[in-house]
Amino acid sequence: MDLLALFKERQALLEGHFLLTSGLHSPRYLQCARVLMDPELALRLGRDLAEKLRPLLGGLAPAAVVAPALGGVLVAHEVARGFGCRGLFTERQDGLMTLRRGFALEAGEPVVVVEDVITTGGSTREVLDCVRGKGARVLAVGSLVDRSGGGVDLGLPRASLLELEVPTWEAAACPLCASGSRPEKPGSRAAAA
Ligand SMILES: [Zn+2]
Repeated sequence: MDLLALFKERQALLEGHFLLTSGLHSPRYLQCARVLMDPELALRLGRDLAEKLRPLLGGLAPAAVVAPALGGVLVAHEVARGFGCRGLFTERQDGLMTLRRGFALEAGEPVVVVEDVITTGGSTREVLDCVRGKGARVLAVGSLVDRSGGGVDLGLPRASLLELEVPTWEAAACPLCASGSRPEKPGSRAAAA
């Protein structure tokens, strides 16, 4: 499966000139939900990521896959299906990533943490803190897309299905603006079904 082509075909990866919520400008915009909304694709991607993670687990089987809501919910669910274990997600409560809804981890349980997209690794680190706070043991981290170009070091084995360079610039340094183009807000362009 050519994931880059798939993401483009499903309009999960838009090319152009975008104003991101961070205020930065970028020639690419990634929306994994456009791929994950297809249940068959979500299943395949989850299974593929589980298979790519499996050799990194030192022969252990994870007891749970944990991801940050909202973007990671479906990823955790489908990777957990691939491993045959439970899929959990963390939510922010008073600013802190936490397990709610009766989700629990036992001390010493082997866990895999996943994300839809790793950019700076910030939300993944928050999930790691939450999981370790429960005494569980994180074996590896997975993401559908790594847009850090492999640059994020979480001190754990890491796998992703697609590595993608996504440059971002401050408005004043944006070469697209310099060439006279105006940025658009992703989502303002209605996606064709
Ligand atoms: Zn620009």
